[in-house]
Amino acid sequence: MKIIEILKQPKTSISFEFFPPKSEESEIQLFQTIKDLEHINPTFVSVTYGAGGSTRDRTRNIVKKIHEETNLTVMVHLTCLGHSRKELIDILNDYKSIGIQNVLALRGDLPVNQENFVQPEDGCKHADELVRLIRDNFGDYYCIAVASYPEGHPESPNMEQEIRFFKQKVEAGADFSITQMFFDNQIFYKFLELVEKAGINIPIIPGIMPITNFKQIRKFAAMCGATIPNELILELEKYENEPEKVKEIGIEYAVNQCIDLLKHGVKGLHFYTLNKSDATLRIYDKIKDYIKG
Ligand SMILES: Cc1cc2nc3c(=O)[nH]c(=O)nc-3n(C[C@H](O)[C@H](O)[C@H](O)COP(=O)(O)OP(=O)(O)OC[C@H]3O[C@@H](n4cnc5c(N)ncnc54)[C@H](O)[C@@H]3O)c2cc1C
Repeated sequence: MKIIEILKQPKTSISFEFFPPKSEESEIQLFQTIKDLEHINPTFVSVTYGAGGSTRDRTRNIVKKIHEETNLTVMVHLTCLGHSRKELIDILNDYKSIGIQNVLALRGDLPVNQENFVQPEDGCKHADELVRLIRDNFGDYYCIAVASYPEGHPESPNMEQEIRFFKQKVEAGADFSITQMFFDNQIFYKFLELVEKAGINIPIIPGIMPITNFKQIRKFAAMCGATIPNELILELEKYENEPEKVKEIGIEYAVNQCIDLLKHGVKGLHFYTLNKSDATLRIYDKIKDYIKG
């Protein structure tokens, strides 16, 4: 099923992101997480793709397994850096052959510690080129999502450019977008105003990262340029050596953030689960009365 068809319905979309596990043991843990989250009846789940194609086979295997062994709609992430156009078309033909109809088209980040990384000359430099490549070769077969950045992508000089490049992805044929994580809803609402002004009218689903580990979230947020509000940092710092308390604060924060977003009429919520169900389930339980069924 194409996700955009589900997003046209009035109900709120709830979705989850997973990454491809590295070991048999973590695959078992992932499938337990999927089982735990399945009863929420998510609109879709998505599986990430390692920078420069580093998880090509692992991503494919997990996507295929979820598609074949559960009733969930799956979206595969695909990054264009490091692949030739022919390789990208081969990958997409393969996903088509196993029945996958949803793809998150990304540029990707340069892989770290890969000295021999080479970007093929005939590859796609940016996500808009990948979106166009998919539309040119697969027509409307795929529902295509793209990333958006309420605080601007770290490489973007300003929000004007950010919106201009986002619009190019939409004009190339993107159906909907998922945002980078953010912790301050006011930044997201301002972003929506800019998007509307620019005439972009695809559904934009906020990406929610529940804070369960302060050190880890600080690192992630710094990497992607997401601001953690000062009051939240101060509160978390007080309990730096009490992981359970940090998790409790993080979950409470995400609950309030999600309720505010739902009250503002967002089309859906996409949870970065880090392959664990506990925090997401606890959040869901407290926000479910605000979700349109
Ligand atoms: C929801 C979500 C899921 C993600 N999943 C993954 C994943 O699975 N694997 C992974 O490796 N990474 C993932 N990322 C991270 C993403 O790959 C990085 O943020 C990457 O640096 C940018 O990807 P993009 O698709 O937004 O690129 P682009 O849209 O190409 O943008 C990259 C930068 O170039 C600028 N730009 C865009 N188009 C042009 C153009 N035509 N000319 C000049 N400049 C341009 C943009 O403003 C931006 O600064 C994800 C991000 C999000 C938000």
